[in-house]
Amino acid sequence: STDDLAALLASRIRDVPDYPKPGVVFKDIAPLLDDAVAFAALVDHLAARAKALGATKVVGLEARGFILAAPAAYAAGAGFVPVRKEGKLPGPCFSQAYDLEYGSAVIEVQCDAFVPGERVLVVDDVLATGGTVEASLDLVRRAGAELAGVAVLMELGFLGGRERLQPHLGEAPLEAI
Ligand code: AMP
Repeated sequence: STDDLAALLASRIRDVPDYPKPGVVFKDIAPLLDDAVAFAALVDHLAARAKALGATKVVGLEARGFILAAPAAYAAGAGFVPVRKEGKLPGPCFSQAYDLEYGSAVIEVQCDAFVPGERVLVVDDVLATGGTVEASLDLVRRAGAELAGVAVLMELGFLGGRERLQPHLGEAPLEAI
């Protein structure tokens, strides 16, 4: 069941206090990725989501989103599209700046990543403040795709990411497994 999956995945995520800086509890997914059963269960779940939502592309957010989105895309029979930090993708790109706790960052997607109107599932590991996913949704829209859904492994509810994303989701569901 979904509860069994959630329990399995939760048991394989390690809390690392004060990383990368004091006061932050880092959610380390390495124990999940190196567990063949848990990793397969997660990828299978994401692939089923992509299929159910009619997604023809799965978008992964650098860097841990890549690890989840690429195998899910393969298993769903969909394509994979990377959203990367500024300056990593060749050729024409859409760029979107977003605020971090200190300063700001820019992420990009290649302009020709999508067929106009095609449906995409956006995948990342952790939804924290929602800034990263919010910026990626802007990119997806500007690149001409339609948002089918957002799936994250885990949501840090106290940071309000879900509320921040709500105005950008439209009909598309946001799932935290
Ligand atoms: P945000 O833009 O604040 O939602 O941050 C999301 C991005 O930062 C994701 O790509 C996560 O991989 C990473 N991230 C933020 N907070 C954490 C955390 N506590 N543990 C692990 N990754 C995090």
